[in-house]
Amino acid sequence: MLFAINTFPQMGEVAKWHRAVDAAADLGADAVIMADAGLMAYASERHPQLRLHLSVQGSATHADAIELMRERFNIKRVVLPRVLSLAQIGKLARQTSVELEVFGFGSLCVMAEGRCLLSSYATGDSPNNKGVCSPAHAVRWTEQDGTMHARLSGILIDSYAPGEPAGYPTLCKGRFEVEGERGYVLEEPTSLNALSLLPALLDIGIAAIKIEGRQRSPRYVADVVGVLRAAIDAACAEPARFAPRQEWQGTLGRHAEGDQVTQGAYDRPWR
Ligand code: SF4
Repeated sequence: MLFAINTFPQMGEVAKWHRAVDAAADLGADAVIMADAGLMAYASERHPQLRLHLSVQGSATHADAIELMRERFNIKRVVLPRVLSLAQIGKLARQTSVELEVFGFGSLCVMAEGRCLLSSYATGDSPNNKGVCSPAHAVRWTEQDGTMHARLSGILIDSYAPGEPAGYPTLCKGRFEVEGERGYVLEEPTSLNALSLLPALLDIGIAAIKIEGRQRSPRYVADVVGVLRAAIDAACAEPARFAPRQEWQGTLGRHAEGDQVTQGAYDRPWR
């Protein structure tokens, strides 16, 4: 049982976060996933037996940052931000004794793990304090002359022609007009799919595969966890002969944002 307490406490309200850490320890958490250094100091001093994982929100992308967290707070695992290539992850694995966890499937953030203010700017609800990015209550879909418009807090995020796959209206993945050209300015709506990279990740010694799951339905959780479990078992059994099955990819494809998948930063052919 892992508890995520990976938000950043606000001034004057730190006691709330301390109570959450105490509750996790009292409930016998196998580990607590955390991002805030002050909170990790509290957890490691108050509950030295509690296993700590550094959240992706902590944005640790190099060995010095990870080792500092290990020395200060005895972290056992780090969830790596989705900005590193496979080669960089392999190098990191050789430089630290901390277990590495990486993302295997799900929506991408714009390389600003833990530091994005776009949702709070547009809706008043921040991923940090409300656990939501672009919350559903702020989303409006309207159809006009056959074109579907997606708005977030009244801001037009995207418009879709009839039959065009529509993504969830997230501010970073909208199409906007810049200098006369309309297109994706920051990021496309697409999902990471690292299924075919499982043998390589196993070879690096990755301890766990993370599935992006914020604001997801029970169907998403059941389908994606089912596919990843079967694929990881198959990759562990026969890594050299592993190939993602078509039905696995079909299931993941149905849950992909904007009906598109990518290997993200893992695969950088230019490097
Ligand atoms: S707006 Fe985009 S970058 Fe920011 S939290 Fe949401 S998905 Fe991530």
